[in-house]
Amino acid sequence: MKFIDLNTLNRWVDKILAYPGITHEELTLRKDYWMGGVFALLLISGLTLGFRITYPEFKILISYGLFMTFIFLLYPVAGLFVHRNLDGMMFVNQMLMIIGTFFFILKLGGVIHSGGLIFIGLFVILNSLTFHNKKKTLWLFSVYIVTLILVWLLDPHLTVAPEMTHRANVFLFIFNLVWISAMTLTFILNLISQLATLEQKEAKRLKEWDKTKTKLYTNITHEFRTPLTVILGMTELIRNKPDKWLLKGTRKIDHNGSILLNLVNQMLDLSKLEAGAMSVGKIQGDIISYLKYLIESFHSLAENKNIRLCFRPHTDHLVMDCDPEKLMQIISNLITNAIKYSKPGGKVEILTLQTGIEEQRFEIQVRDHGVGILAEHLPHIFDRFYRVESSNRFIPGMSGTGLGLALTREIIKLLGGTISVESIFGQGTKFTVSLPVTHNAPLMEQLALAGPEKSFSALFPAYDDEKEMAAVPTEQTDKPLLLIVEDSRDVVDYLTALLEPEFRIQVAVNGREGLEKTLQLGPDIILSDIMMPEMDGIELLDKVKNDMRTSHIPVVILTAKADIASRLAGLERGADAYIAKPFHRKELVIQLKKFVRLREKLQERYANIGHLKPSKDKSFSLEDSFIQKIREFMLRNIEEEEFSIKKLCHEVAMSRAQLYRKFKSLTNKTISAYFQSLRLHKAKEYLTTSDMNVSEVASLTGFKSQAHFSRAFTRLFGINPSKIKG
Ligand code: ADP
Repeated sequence: MKFIDLNTLNRWVDKILAYPGITHEELTLRKDYWMGGVFALLLISGLTLGFRITYPEFKILISYGLFMTFIFLLYPVAGLFVHRNLDGMMFVNQMLMIIGTFFFILKLGGVIHSGGLIFIGLFVILNSLTFHNKKKTLWLFSVYIVTLILVWLLDPHLTVAPEMTHRANVFLFIFNLVWISAMTLTFILNLISQLATLEQKEAKRLKEWDKTKTKLYTNITHEFRTPLTVILGMTELIRNKPDKWLLKGTRKIDHNGSILLNLVNQMLDLSKLEAGAMSVGKIQGDIISYLKYLIESFHSLAENKNIRLCFRPHTDHLVMDCDPEKLMQIISNLITNAIKYSKPGGKVEILTLQTGIEEQRFEIQVRDHGVGILAEHLPHIFDRFYRVESSNRFIPGMSGTGLGLALTREIIKLLGGTISVESIFGQGTKFTVSLPVTHNAPLMEQLALAGPEKSFSALFPAYDDEKEMAAVPTEQTDKPLLLIVEDSRDVVDYLTALLEPEFRIQVAVNGREGLEKTLQLGPDIILSDIMMPEMDGIELLDKVKNDMRTSHIPVVILTAKADIASRLAGLERGADAYIAKPFHRKELVIQLKKFVRLREKLQERYANIGHLKPSKDKSFSLEDSFIQKIREFMLRNIEEEEFSIKKLCHEVAMSRAQLYRKFKSLTNKTISAYFQSLRLHKAKEYLTTSDMNVSEVASLTGFKSQAHFSRAFTRLFGINPSKIKG
């Protein structure tokens, strides 16, 4: 039977030692001290009692035992009532211990006859090192030194207590040394293990910080590089063809410059907030009219995306303190996010409420019916640089840094408010901002601010040249067909201008569309971004390279994500090249042309009717097996005059158009020309290696008319088949 249930005991101790607001660490520390005190109490009182029974003549030592019992009784009992000032309580206790021990040393006859009680002060000081306030340790140490000096000065006047015989003195000396050294060792071991845990924690924190930093660099570089690519590219275009590009190009430079400025401002604001250097400029005015004014300026933005924007205030006017600039930042971020993460045709609502009686609060709710946020991401969306990549997959052209909400929350905190979020994945999101209603600031007629549009219009460009963009030239020429897969319209625009002279160009705005267009058009080369909504560049690359129908198409990855990891990921999956934004115009053109030339080399390899030489290059394996499959099919059907293309399509699991396109791109020959050539080569082989005559060979290789066979044979080999037979 168990007398003590340790769990129950533990819970009981927790309960009596806890106080409202205590942290887990504090409670553990308190419990350690308290349990130590209880243990010492039991030990000392037990020893004193034992001594009293067996050696009643040791009067002074028994009194010392009773004194220590009192001290250790005081300690756990007081511990139950003293809450936050644990250090203070321990200090009083330890000071009593040093001074009390000093008197007993005097009574016993001085330091030499104290049975080692002089060392108790040392232990006390060591123990006090756990105090948060190191001054207390210094105090204890000073008092201890004073007692030592006093013991020394008073020594000539002391008389040795009769109970302190030599044997008793030596025994007590050893006894005290044993327990003091045991406790000191435990203390030091404990300290070392705490240091190790601390080190581990620090290492973990550093690792996490490292991860955040990498994420930051990746996001920030992407955000900086894309606009920079456009700006640098556009300046070059303007320089080369000012008449064509001056207007359009400067507009794009302006727009991309604003994006960069906005980004830098956000980062500066965050660091200002962090350093406590952001000031609040409150004025008193009608917050409802101001919100109306702010929201008004988002209408065109919402309309652009075919989203309805509704403002439903709970009242017509509410005069309160407010920092118009900060409120604009908050509202801009929430509404732009709501629009950004909504699908066209959706609705964004802004509602206001007033809550609380004694302490009035003003609430602004921004609701959307967009993509929503998964529950697992919700606790993190206010973290700096946190972005839910999956929700961003649905939003073409809208990347972000994950800074917006972090900044918004900090600003709201600065205003004494709170922000919360509720969301159902796939259904929508609701952000609620709650601000205190106060009336202390100077009264203003109207809360107004100069043009809020500037700060967010940058993020949502009005594309008046959108139609122009969509009409990418697709005229049929001999130029190779290039498919650009990129979600930033500005970058597409720039690339088109750049590559138009060399390529026919098609555009897809994300990986999914890129894949569709690849299957449908069979481009000669693909140029794709990595970070894109719906399907990213790496996934597209994977699909293209592992599909027999498209595996031969070179893919060049063009991205701002220039870190090593994604570079490797791209190359491992078979990207043919990797170009980082902002790229050099010439480098890009040269790389792309190189692939076109490479294709010509590939054609040489496959146009050859003879056996394929096995290649060391792994990237040929899929193409080799494709050609091999077709060859084998043709050889199996070589006697048939009419070649069934339908059966061949079935054999390689491709549509007729896809098969023709891929075959032509690999061999630069049509299927029938290749088959004809294959028949004739086979015929030549039969003629040279067997006894068959020309008409037999002709019929065996699918030529019903011998005359036709002879003509084709002579055209290809420059010699009449009958001559070979001689
Ligand atoms: P950014 O939009 O630049 O990525 P934010 O800090 O504004 O950064 O938002 C952080 C993340 O929270 C976003 O990446 C997005 O996934 C998510 N989020 C914010 N607002 C919404 C919303 N209204 N609907 C769905 N997701 C949202």
